[in-house]
Amino acid sequence: MGKGHFPIDRLKGIETPFYWYDTDVLRRTLEAINAEAGKHEGFVVHYAVKANANPKLLRIIRAAGLGADCVSGGEIEAAVKAGFPHDRIVYAGVGKSDWEINLGLDNDIFCFNVESIPELEVINQLAGERGKVARVAFRLNPNVGAHTHANITTGLAENKFGIAMRDMISVIEEAAKMENVKFVGLHFHIGSQILDMGDFEALCNRINELQGILDNHRIRVEHINVGGGLGVDYEHPNRLPIPDFKAYFDTYAKKLKLRPGQTLHFELGRAVVAQCGSLITRTLYIKEGAVKKFAIVDAGFTDLIRPALYQAYHKIENISSDEPAEAYDVVGPICESTDVFAKQVDLNKAHRGDLMAIRSAGAYGEIMASQYNCRKLPKGYLSDE
Ligand SMILES: *Cc1c(COP(=O)(O)O)cnc(C)c1O
Repeated sequence: MGKGHFPIDRLKGIETPFYWYDTDVLRRTLEAINAEAGKHEGFVVHYAVKANANPKLLRIIRAAGLGADCVSGGEIEAAVKAGFPHDRIVYAGVGKSDWEINLGLDNDIFCFNVESIPELEVINQLAGERGKVARVAFRLNPNVGAHTHANITTGLAENKFGIAMRDMISVIEEAAKMENVKFVGLHFHIGSQILDMGDFEALCNRINELQGILDNHRIRVEHINVGGGLGVDYEHPNRLPIPDFKAYFDTYAKKLKLRPGQTLHFELGRAVVAQCGSLITRTLYIKEGAVKKFAIVDAGFTDLIRPALYQAYHKIENISSDEPAEAYDVVGPICESTDVFAKQVDLNKAHRGDLMAIRSAGAYGEIMASQYNCRKLPKGYLSDE
């Protein structure tokens, strides 16, 4: 499948820049997740809403049977609106405010993933005021590194996330004393864009150790939640549009020793939606600089911030041209030097008006858009609407 799969005539009629979502890719991705996770007893997959909360995508993901992993009250609202059942919604986050906790309580969500004792106390109090018992899991910091960009590791002792492992038993004992919380699970999340299954294996080993300690204390845990983090192939979105879910779920099935009746929860974000989305942008000018050629496009880091924020690579295709490739710096219009999508990439010879597709942009793209420079937020369009 080459770049020819973009319906160029239709795209030409839409105001740029915008996100284009290929629902065929999304559906095939969801089928692969269900097929591979479905091979293992007790595996439950949630979608991490923060990767992309486009309501139309959420509805497709919900229809495929995934739960929702939320990190804010706004995401809980988006998940409820998209029809995710309340008992499939989990809520994590290092700084939950009172209204967000109350929203979770009012919606009787499946679980709060709790990151500190002060937070647990507040949940207990707010649940008490409502005459409810909140189900809680503790997010532990497993001190497992991930071979990914330093800004997106979350499971190291130095990161702000989670509760230190040495405090595990004492927080569980604290929770047992409280009337309006029920401890049901352990939660982990070691980072994002992880392609080395060895990192997930290291997490499994850590969880096995921790479960051994729980056994010694005769503490039963209903579920283990290992978070998300599976990466995608940003280099080859055409050749490898579906992440290797088989390797991912098989790693957990092989390495993590679940106790009888325990369920294993996953919270995949990027791996679900990254490859179905492209940011479509129009070429405004070709500028011959002193040393190189610039393709100045009408999208900027306000539309897709990943290159500026994490030096992330996104494949770019000139979908309007078949002429032989030339090297360009592809840059946006925003008044910041970091507003660069790629440096010295080969693109089919570009002209004013050509549409460029910035690929693998379905995750952490549209949802991170801002209005800096008083720019409009990009819209999202689905291929099958
Ligand atoms: C961000 C996040 C995820 C999803 O991460 P991906 O790398 O997109 O799969 C899952 N769980 C938690 C708690 C997160 O913060």
